[in-house]
Amino acid sequence: MTGILKKTFYFISFLIFLPACHAQQSTMQQKDSLEFSNKIVPDVIWRETYVALSHYPELKDTPIEIRFKKNIKKSFMQAQPKVSGLFKNRKNRSYFIFINEKFKIEDEIFDVTTVPSEVLIGWIGHELGHIMDYRDRSAADLVWFGVKYITSKKYIREAERAADTYAVNHGLGENIIATKDFILNHSKLSENYKNRIQDLYLSQEEIMVLIDEIHEEIN
Ligand SMILES: [Zn+2]
Repeated sequence: MTGILKKTFYFISFLIFLPACHAQQSTMQQKDSLEFSNKIVPDVIWRETYVALSHYPELKDTPIEIRFKKNIKKSFMQAQPKVSGLFKNRKNRSYFIFINEKFKIEDEIFDVTTVPSEVLIGWIGHELGHIMDYRDRSAADLVWFGVKYITSKKYIREAERAADTYAVNHGLGENIIATKDFILNHSKLSENYKNRIQDLYLSQEEIMVLIDEIHEEIN
């Protein structure tokens, strides 16, 4: 390669490299400027988590760690208080949101990379709804909650509908509907799982009514 060609080559490479570098830097800055404290979030879902969290100003300082886990039974995500902090002052309590690394239903395997962003935001928003619910409970009440959740289907239904309601009332109604659509319109998911979702969570119609009520209150 002659000198002039070499120089042109480097210059062009530099021009190509520059915007890529700049783009990376701007996402870094965006991420570093998260106004939330005490959050541990895997890189692959920080955007969706950020959007969901921005609907819950009450959780701004609440310690929350989102962690991938293998083989969570029957669900894609799960929120729970950290046992170590259970008996601390309620304000200092911290929480886990576990996400199934691979969620297999029938032959279909899901993970966070195969779920659309708006659905993921709804899903995380629902888990944050559980945390809102846990915040108001004493340690003894939380232990009792755990026992009832394991043993009573009626109680699971109450807890799941409460979490959905928190999410809808915090402006995530469209996302919660998107999660239901995603599950119910997925042909490969089992009827069993779909029935479970329809039975335990708010229906699309109920969510629409809640959204309308919020709009009426604002107007
Ligand atoms: Zn739930």
